[in-house]
Amino acid sequence: MTWCIPSGKFLRIRIFLTGLILLTNLVLPTNLDAQWKAGNFDDSDMALDLTEALTFQKYPTYPQYVEMMQRFASRYPEICRLDTFGTSEEGRLLLALKISDHVQEDEDEARFFYTSTIHGDELVGYVLLLRLADTLLTGYGSVSDITALVDSLAIWINPLANPDGSYSSDQGLSLTDARRTNSKGIDLNRDFPDSGSGEGNDTTMRAAETRHMMYFMQQHRFTMSANIHSGTEVVNYPWDHTRVLHADDPWYRFISREYADETMAVDPGYMWGWPDNGITNGAEWYIITGGRQDYVNYYLEGREVTLELSNEKLLESNLLEEHWRINRRSLLNYMVQCTYGIRGRVSDEISGDPVRAQITLPDHDSSYSVVHSSATHGDFYRLIKEGIYDLVVSANGYLADTTPGVEVTDYRATWLDIRLARDPGTGIHADHDTPAFQLYPNPAREQIYISTSPAGGSGKETGHITIKVYGIDGQLKLQKDLYNSGSPVPLTITPLKSGFYVMKITRGALTRVLPFIKE
Ligand SMILES: [Zn+2]
Repeated sequence: MTWCIPSGKFLRIRIFLTGLILLTNLVLPTNLDAQWKAGNFDDSDMALDLTEALTFQKYPTYPQYVEMMQRFASRYPEICRLDTFGTSEEGRLLLALKISDHVQEDEDEARFFYTSTIHGDELVGYVLLLRLADTLLTGYGSVSDITALVDSLAIWINPLANPDGSYSSDQGLSLTDARRTNSKGIDLNRDFPDSGSGEGNDTTMRAAETRHMMYFMQQHRFTMSANIHSGTEVVNYPWDHTRVLHADDPWYRFISREYADETMAVDPGYMWGWPDNGITNGAEWYIITGGRQDYVNYYLEGREVTLELSNEKLLESNLLEEHWRINRRSLLNYMVQCTYGIRGRVSDEISGDPVRAQITLPDHDSSYSVVHSSATHGDFYRLIKEGIYDLVVSANGYLADTTPGVEVTDYRATWLDIRLARDPGTGIHADHDTPAFQLYPNPAREQIYISTSPAGGSGKETGHITIKVYGIDGQLKLQKDLYNSGSPVPLTITPLKSGFYVMKITRGALTRVLPFIKE
């Protein structure tokens, strides 16, 4: 085997640390909190001025960082926009670049997001993402694969998620005292809602950085994303909070494998020493709760992995070039994956108007893995591993539509044009945003409740309701006549096998069809 290791120092650190990880993996959980403070990081690792910062060979000061971000947007106004999506506890800016063709418009494109340095002392991704932004902007129009990415995706880049942690000195002129937490000592990657404990998607009592990030991500609903850390070298995929595998585990392993393999093709010593060769299931490594990755995957219909990109947290600046060389192709290829899978448009079959609908893959999905089409364009993106899937599209006021046998091939997009027919039972004035009935919990195990939405167009009416539950084969599985007294009506579903069902609820002339999952 040929080992192409750039420098003796690099080799020594890498083997020492990966060896340590292997050893500790055997006896006790490894912990990201461990501080590998490299002794050699000092003020000489900081750029002297903007020109030096733009070489990406040194770390920018905080003022230089803000200037770089503004400069990207002002030099490339056709394809780059700078957003401030909030401020940190100490008032530093939380910045994100949008890079896309027609950048000022909200187009029907998949939305991609890179973010880094939520742990303020994990620095490599900070410079890698600044350099990635520069690469996309300077390559647009001349490098074909970069042009295709910028044309087909809405790309968002937030290089620095925890500026107070990174620049803990007042003037933000140095990173030498960078720390993991924000200014209040909060580990931001433990501060997100935790699905495992049943927490709601709620910003109460969270750090300013977390709240703003939650609002930002809820607003943009990214199709795919990654969060960059340091402390080791590995691609960490969901879940982090439970050993239960994600419904799309094969897809996560596939995209993680692709990322790791490409880096190791450049440098066989990189991501070295992991039992699964550069990738790991998060919980199998060690369990955390309140992490950003699981929040995005559970609450936001997103697809996010955690990229651990350098063994050293305060990576010396003379190693930045090498880390860029190793990760450049992988960072781009990972974004290209966001253009594959099942995608398409949902519209009203008569008016052609876009419809916000739920896209479900029966026998595959769990509640967290279903996606929705957008209300503005009707576009949807269902990233998934190669295979054949039945796909159900359902929306309030419309008859559910099933497309059987959708074929998906890796590295290809399968495009579907879904036209939904109005449910004749719902009348022409059906209000899509305030459904007359809601089902919860969903998925449900023993009982599912049917509630009359207080905001529903038809009000909180009482009376007899007829429930019919159909399986995905179209067969009637359960029928009940219940009385709706105004409070939620329980329906026992223990006789049903685990899987995907459609419930047809009729009250007088009003009919609703709602999908649910029996666990
Ligand atoms: Zn970290």
